[in-house]
Amino acid sequence: MGKQLIAGNWKLNLTVTEAAALAQALATESEELLHRCDLLVAPGFLALETVRSAVLGTAIQVAAQNAYHEPKGAFTGEVSFAQLRDLGVYWVILGHSERRSVFGEHDELLARKLKGALDCGMLPIFCVGESLEQRESGAASTVVKAQLQAALSDLPSDVAARLVIAYEPVWAIGTGLTASPAQAAEMHALIREELATLWGEASGKSVRLLYGGSVKAANAAELLGQPNVDGVLVGGASLQASEFLAIAAASCETR
Ligand code: PEP
Repeated sequence: MGKQLIAGNWKLNLTVTEAAALAQALATESEELLHRCDLLVAPGFLALETVRSAVLGTAIQVAAQNAYHEPKGAFTGEVSFAQLRDLGVYWVILGHSERRSVFGEHDELLARKLKGALDCGMLPIFCVGESLEQRESGAASTVVKAQLQAALSDLPSDVAARLVIAYEPVWAIGTGLTASPAQAAEMHALIREELATLWGEASGKSVRLLYGGSVKAANAAELLGQPNVDGVLVGGASLQASEFLAIAAASCETR
């Protein structure tokens, strides 16, 4: 049985001082919870080092929200996986829908980023998900499958144990709308099936699958109780220690 992963994406929120205070609160209040689930927070780049220091000595993991696949060079404004590793940050979120839609990150670039992260020994959380229009037109499964194939088809099965995939329906991110437990379970089953087809059943099973999209304390238990849901990726509700820890308290062991 594996622990569920409760991950908080702080997005472009919190100053370094505020991020330090939130990390400190999580570090002091999560000791008991860390026996039953894995906790991870993703602050902005500027706060990574401060947050990492604040949670040092606890099992809380720290992730970057993005990075670039080239190791160095003329890429003004970018941050490499090697730079993150040097800071002691091994986790990275890639392909978040805001990166895809606001910053125009397309499947091909994301495949390069994912490969770059894995080659560098990072632990990526790779996000996929359909828009409202795509769901309403019945294309949700096709879209998610295509996103998975674009990112994973050239990768060997031995990356599976280091990979986390987050299913985040775009229409549920920051909107207050949540996929129903049945919708989440259905898409997670499809993702699991795709992974098994690509890498075989055992490797497919070793990928942790997170659900994301307006998760809060009030709906976490039901979502976390679905088959193939190995954790959640939380945006807005991860900005308050008490709410985030209440979500973590709803976690259970899976698989
Ligand atoms: C996210 O940013 O990945 C997310 C799921 O946001 P929210 O929980 O606010 O919908």
